[in-house]
Amino acid sequence: MFSKENFKAAFLHRLEMLCGKSFSESTKVDHYQTLGQMIREYVSDDWITTNEQYMATKGKQVYYLSIEYLLGKLLRQNLINLGVEQTVEEGLKELGIDLGELEEIEPDAGLGNGGLGRLAACFLDSLASLNLPGHGQGIRYKHGLFEQKIVNGYQVELPEQWLRSGNVWEVRKLDLAVSVPFWGKVDTKMENGRLIFQHINAETVTAVPYDMPVVGYESKTVNTLRLWNAEPAQFPVHKDILKYKRETEAISEFLYPDDTHDEGKILRLKQQYFLVSASLQSIVKAHKKQYGSLDKLHEYVCIHINDTHPVLAIPELMRILLDQEGFGWDEAWHITQNTISYTNHTTLAEALEKWPVRIFQPLLPRIYMIVEEINERFCRKLWEETPGDWTRIAGLAIIADEFVQMAHLAIVGSFSVNGVARLHTEILKEREMKPFFQLFPEKFNNKTNGIAHRRWLLKANPKLSALLTDAIGPSWTHSANELMGLLKYQDDRSFLEQLGKIKAANKKQLAEMVYKQTGIALDTRAIFDVQVKRLHAYKRQLLNVLHIMYLYNQIKEDSSFQMTPRVFIFGAKASPGYYYAKKIIKLINSVAEKVNNDPKVADRLKVIFMENYRVSLAERIFPAADISEQISTASKEASGTGNMKFMINGALTIGTLDGANVEIHERVGDDNIFIFGLTAEEVLHYYRHGGYESVGYYHHDKRLKQVIDQLINGFFPGIQNEYEPIVDSLLEENDQYFVLKDFASYINTQQRLGSCYTDSLNWQKKSLINIAHAGYFSSDRTIKEYASDIWGIHPLQ
Ligand SMILES: *Cc1c(COP(=O)(O)O)cnc(C)c1O
Repeated sequence: MFSKENFKAAFLHRLEMLCGKSFSESTKVDHYQTLGQMIREYVSDDWITTNEQYMATKGKQVYYLSIEYLLGKLLRQNLINLGVEQTVEEGLKELGIDLGELEEIEPDAGLGNGGLGRLAACFLDSLASLNLPGHGQGIRYKHGLFEQKIVNGYQVELPEQWLRSGNVWEVRKLDLAVSVPFWGKVDTKMENGRLIFQHINAETVTAVPYDMPVVGYESKTVNTLRLWNAEPAQFPVHKDILKYKRETEAISEFLYPDDTHDEGKILRLKQQYFLVSASLQSIVKAHKKQYGSLDKLHEYVCIHINDTHPVLAIPELMRILLDQEGFGWDEAWHITQNTISYTNHTTLAEALEKWPVRIFQPLLPRIYMIVEEINERFCRKLWEETPGDWTRIAGLAIIADEFVQMAHLAIVGSFSVNGVARLHTEILKEREMKPFFQLFPEKFNNKTNGIAHRRWLLKANPKLSALLTDAIGPSWTHSANELMGLLKYQDDRSFLEQLGKIKAANKKQLAEMVYKQTGIALDTRAIFDVQVKRLHAYKRQLLNVLHIMYLYNQIKEDSSFQMTPRVFIFGAKASPGYYYAKKIIKLINSVAEKVNNDPKVADRLKVIFMENYRVSLAERIFPAADISEQISTASKEASGTGNMKFMINGALTIGTLDGANVEIHERVGDDNIFIFGLTAEEVLHYYRHGGYESVGYYHHDKRLKQVIDQLINGFFPGIQNEYEPIVDSLLEENDQYFVLKDFASYINTQQRLGSCYTDSLNWQKKSLINIAHAGYFSSDRTIKEYASDIWGIHPLQ
């Protein structure tokens, strides 16, 4: 049906129709647009059929609500999933068009910050590929995460423009638009003996859905990602029309560039309610159309909230049931509580969302009333259990000290609360959310994160994928556990050598890209030691940098010092307002300049900071990595998913026992991972009981004293006080992230790793063992667990 000749003819025909020019006049952008349109149309039959089947089978469906989706590029993944990649690539080639160049034209859909947003994207892939009825809903930000430039070593942020030439994957559905009310007040009146609540004088915003198809891998399933755009209402009742238009469009203008800090800005709360209200209205409308009422909503629909950002789904569903559908409180609460499930992503105190009542109440007056009622009923129950224990009640309350605690609302109003790795879930249950766990033990469960292995291995690393398919057949693309079949090659010299050759080829490709961008030539025989992730104090890029400075000092001062040559590669965006994180970026660039321009270390050290880390860049970096740096302060990284992407591409981890590193370690065993540093238990013990003094480590470890002194003693020429804040954080502020404490253990482990690398065959064996065990970390496994343990959804046929 989809032959190369048919494709070529259709492509040429479509190109002329779409662009109004002949093939010889057309540009690459025209080619990209044409191909994108064709592919979207190609999936539309299956898209419609999938929806019809969901209607016909009356199975339960899940809606995944997330304020972020870090999708990256969609073109090649869609071609792969549709099984037409080769046909299209060859057909285009015969027309003189390079598919790789068309991919370059597609912008990354970067509607997310990092791990949380990427998880949502991986989940969509797995849901569709497993033929599961699961759809995403989010916000169609006009500008995704900022574009990062490095100027003179400093991060500069530019607005991202992914919609500049339109988005070929989306369909605007104006007929499904809904209105979302803000401000105004709540009017009450009696009607037939019932108190009726009406939100009056509200400023309404029109939410217009843009639907994107989510194509399953080698399956007929096409699910939907619905992104909402904020637009002025057709007949606004506003005094100042221009102001109203500006404020309305602002709602879907920018993604907030920080996911680890709660900013407390009113626009953010507007975004959250906008997403939630639009999503719920559309879900409820579809359900009512099919089933007539909402009595059994929870038997047919599950609404999952990705962190607390969409937690207003709870009071919004209550509002619909109470005010629009006329349910009594108890019945409405029963339906709501059994419809909503919640994932917690962090225990960092600064990231736990709380909203001042003075912002919340005027913006969302009816929603606030409902939250108050939920809180009062919950607190009454607590009071009945432990009368007079005000400390306990205040600690658990949803509204306390004039703040709405979003995580408390999420736990009380949902039927399931899950953490994202085993350690994280244990910390939630035993510490951070302990009193809630004691109240609702049945709600708490763990779902260790995963990655879409079809993007991070099949698409990102075609060479390795081909070798794997040669060795164990193609079934691993559907069932990642099949990768275990590789273990039989662990002592096969020729196979291990091929593995090594592929890694070398991927390193060469990355080196060519680095050379083009920076003019720095990398030795691909060196260890490619990579830390790519958001820049954050708890992720400890600083520990990595101090180690590099230590190596530099050793080479300069000790002529007998031996080390395996290393290329250190960084990629990281810092939130624009995160002062300390930006200092670290500048420091990495200062160290890079010093190291890369010193001929004495040239044969052993290079440091590269890659600009504008994002999904499409990540896809080039993971396949080329020898070492995966996962060195967060234990207990701080909820799961990590970068760690899994490295692992499945055969990189070995140097890491702390944090997040999912614990489970990676458990699977590959001590010999195939490099673990160092404090455990989570030790870190938490220090936080509770004290006993850590960083200054002591500074004075007693000469290597450490030297590198810290170098931050401020003129070692970096021309930079006077730049790094004083870093030194202060380590000494004056007693090093809250235990960088000094873990330093010795880290450099010893790095040394051991360096020696280990020189035994190439043995290294490839370790690499193979990592790949083989990475199947567990496919998001297919994660999604199957969500589907059976939380959502209760089943695959189509
Ligand atoms: C996977 C991914 C992340 C998350 O990385 P962690 O190391 O788990 O923090 C962030 N950004 C991008 C672009 C990713 O692909």
